[in-house]
Amino acid sequence: MPSAAPLAAVARAQHPCRSPKPAHRPMTVAAAALKQASPGARASAAALSEGPSPLDEDAPSEEQRQPLFKFGLLSDVQHADMDDGASFHGTPRYYRYALCQLDAAVDAMSAAGVAFCLHLGDLIDFHNSRLGVCADTELHHSEKALRVALQHFDRLGRPTLHLLGNHELYQHSREELNRRLGISALQRGVVPHSYYTFHPAPGFRFIMMDGYDVSILGWPPGHPGHEQAQRLLSKHNPNEDKNSANGLEGVDRRFVKFGGGASAEQLAWLRGELESAAAAGERAIVACHLCFHPATCPGACLLWNYDEVLQVLQRYPGTVVGTLAGHAHADGFAADEAGIRHRVCKAVLETPPGRECYGIVEVFADAIRINGVDTFASEEWPLAPLGPPTAAAAAAPAGAPAAGEPAGKQVAAVQA
Ligand SMILES: [Zn+2]
Repeated sequence: MPSAAPLAAVARAQHPCRSPKPAHRPMTVAAAALKQASPGARASAAALSEGPSPLDEDAPSEEQRQPLFKFGLLSDVQHADMDDGASFHGTPRYYRYALCQLDAAVDAMSAAGVAFCLHLGDLIDFHNSRLGVCADTELHHSEKALRVALQHFDRLGRPTLHLLGNHELYQHSREELNRRLGISALQRGVVPHSYYTFHPAPGFRFIMMDGYDVSILGWPPGHPGHEQAQRLLSKHNPNEDKNSANGLEGVDRRFVKFGGGASAEQLAWLRGELESAAAAGERAIVACHLCFHPATCPGACLLWNYDEVLQVLQRYPGTVVGTLAGHAHADGFAADEAGIRHRVCKAVLETPPGRECYGIVEVFADAIRINGVDTFASEEWPLAPLGPPTAAAAAAPAGAPAAGEPAGKQVAAVQA
């Protein structure tokens, strides 16, 4: 069996990038903010951007302002060593070129001095599982793809936070993925699940959720998570093929076999993390491969119990800054009634040669700026002043949904 290093060399030699790398064009901070602004706001911002107010002599300029830390952001690399293809809906997919995309992203993140990288799941594509053994490496393509993709992340020399996606779970066991993706090392105690937290800097907590905690994927028949998923699919999806959402409408389309949900145990853990973050005066960013908010994605890409998760998050306004998700392969944006921002990130896999798709995120004391590169959208999340936990947060037991909160009303309206 070849060693890891020669494998990377083999992979690169076989699949060189087919076009020169585009110039790295991170948007300026001002441009990033302007991209999301209305025409009127653009005019006002353009006038304001001519310089700081002469009345505010001590205010730092945008160039002088330094972030507390930076991190890299990308999603759905979904690599396989195979020719280009297309999604079920006909969107082109660049399975080999995804590694070149990843290289470009890692180079830029390294140059930007990020503290870590966040990949939102689906690192490798399910097609690997049917490609068999690679003649050159004598490794199964599922193993080769995972190994090569992780080696490309290793080039950063900084930690990468990974999330479990459906495509990893088609090919590898949960236990194996927890170990290979570094999830086990970040968990406190030995647990069979795949959720964890990460503290990149004082005052900030990343809460990494497992969207397949209740799922057919990743648990064997007989496991409570598998059995609960089976019951939910039988109840909510009448199709013989549970991967099909045919006949289901709106958010009801989320009950498909390639989806999943958060268990009651994970919801209790989430609430405990947020309680702890609020008590410590920390900001929390919550990430999951599956999507949190109906306004950000097609119904089939939502967490099965997204409404319960939103209810928990919205008990901590100010503490919860925003959510990040992948899986949908297209950009999605929403701001909910509690002021929480929800972002779904475009897929690396569907970015054509010559283009790029990742973000360099700057975290300030009063804002988080997602500086998108090329096709990756930019946006800015303002950070509201931190306050004490709400009365509902103080009163509700851990993990219990609170009826009648803003999220519940919003979700009910969407379902109608
Ligand atoms: Zn996915």
